[in-house]
Amino acid sequence: MTPSTLLPSGKRPLIIAGPCSAESREQLFSTCEQLARLGCVDLLRAGLWKPRTRPDSFEGVGDCGLKWLAEAKARTGLPIVTEVAAARHVEGVLRHGLDGVWIGARTTVNPFLVQEIADAVAGSGLWVLIKNPMHPDIELWAGAVERFQKAGVPLAQIALVHRGFSTSNHWHLRNDPMWHLAFDMRRRFPTLPLLCDPSHICGCRELLQEVAQQAANLNFDGLIIESHCNPDAALSDARQQITPESLGRLLDGITWRSECSHDAAFVRTLAACRSEIDQLDAEIFDLLSRRMRVADRIGRIKRENDVMILQRERWAEVVERIVARSDELQLSKEFLRTVLDAIHNESIEHQGRVMSEP
Ligand code: PEP
Ligand code: MN
Repeated sequence: MTPSTLLPSGKRPLIIAGPCSAESREQLFSTCEQLARLGCVDLLRAGLWKPRTRPDSFEGVGDCGLKWLAEAKARTGLPIVTEVAAARHVEGVLRHGLDGVWIGARTTVNPFLVQEIADAVAGSGLWVLIKNPMHPDIELWAGAVERFQKAGVPLAQIALVHRGFSTSNHWHLRNDPMWHLAFDMRRRFPTLPLLCDPSHICGCRELLQEVAQQAANLNFDGLIIESHCNPDAALSDARQQITPESLGRLLDGITWRSECSHDAAFVRTLAACRSEIDQLDAEIFDLLSRRMRVADRIGRIKRENDVMILQRERWAEVVERIVARSDELQLSKEFLRTVLDAIHNESIEHQGRVMSEP
């Protein structure tokens, strides 16, 4: 398999930065030139056609910005990418000699558009960054990669961008990271660079450093971060953009860890911790199995007494009691609720099975 052309000679991390939107020639040049001076930005980004949730928001400068992007590339010597949501956008990108495109979260959800873009990109040599869809449906994300692949775009030109998912959890973040879905994509497409977009995950500046560090800890290959020469005056995503100078500080503050170490003490301690974890996991599942056998007994007596399985009040009480111990257990309320939900579902299945025994 040919290695990714986005990570030449395995460069990690790959850093992509630029404004959410190209707003004017001056704003774009000022931002891109400052970013290039940082010395650690590999690729510039700037949106021209902005898919906005509400109709009266700034929808991008459109085609007239293509020449600014071409000029920003020439001035800085850095490659540049922009978002496309239609075949005609790709044609503009090619006419102006830009280097790649990204597929936004609102486009990845639409197989017709993805197909149209894939056909337009095929044979062009453009890089394609595919953002995850708005909602947590990994099949749509994988399907988008497959559409490009089938259209003849080599995997070596494709990268994945994890920008979080729209869910009702995680109120402090704009989009719920649901990191496990990114890992699932990594498992399905192991050669594709996996980049994190902390800007759209956070939705605000304050949390960027923490989420970017988390991505580094989780072995992401790079970051795509929104940066604007005057973030407060940005016409889109103002709250999450940072100046090139702050971006420099943020990147300096990140520790990129390696996947493993051969240090003898490290290897020994890790092996000991892992064996302790294996032992504890075995105990957890033995306990769960015992718990389900009690659920079976309950199922039997409910059946004998014609009582129904689901007893909402009792379960609400159990959840409340355990979630109230969140601090003491040092486990998040969200995690406790997820585990309790899984236990409850299994318990209901057990009772249901017992009830329908002949
Ligand atoms: C963007 O990158 O500016 C953008 C619109 O992102 P997303 O598609 O992730 O919302
Ligand atoms: Mn944006």
